[in-house]
Amino acid sequence: MSVGREGGCSCGEVRYRLASEPLFVHCCHCLNCQRQTGSAFVVNVLIETDRVELLAGEPQAVSVPRSGGKKQKIWRCPTCQVAVFSQYTTPRVRFVRAGTLDDPASVAPDVHIFTRSKLPWVALPESVPAFNVYYDTEKLWPEESLARLKAL
Ligand SMILES: [Zn+2]
Ligand SMILES: [Zn+2]
Repeated sequence: MSVGREGGCSCGEVRYRLASEPLFVHCCHCLNCQRQTGSAFVVNVLIETDRVELLAGEPQAVSVPRSGGKKQKIWRCPTCQVAVFSQYTTPRVRFVRAGTLDDPASVAPDVHIFTRSKLPWVALPESVPAFNVYYDTEKLWPEESLARLKAL
């Protein structure tokens, strides 16, 4: 089961649907993600922006400072303020917060990144690649996802 995952915020005002499989799924253990979520890591579903179909509501973009002076846009429900997705670099790819999916278990990380700041009590599975910082997209992404990325 897969295509057509839906999700939304806590109050129900914002609802979205993912029109296809993720490009890739990140589990990020960086300090920015820890602070933003108030938790140990974030799980982000990377997908083309035009494949995130808004079914209801209008998430509002908030500009959030990150270490190093850069900013990141995070879209939140205007009412309950739950963050549903964000944008790091290209506006053509969204990072959808997997915890906002109706079925968060329907995705799993393809990679763990920024494990240099991973909390010591988080144990990672041997079967999933993990990197101290970041990784080489060309080497790790499946052919199909690379083709989709190039098509953007
Ligand atoms: Zn809401
Ligand atoms: Zn991060």
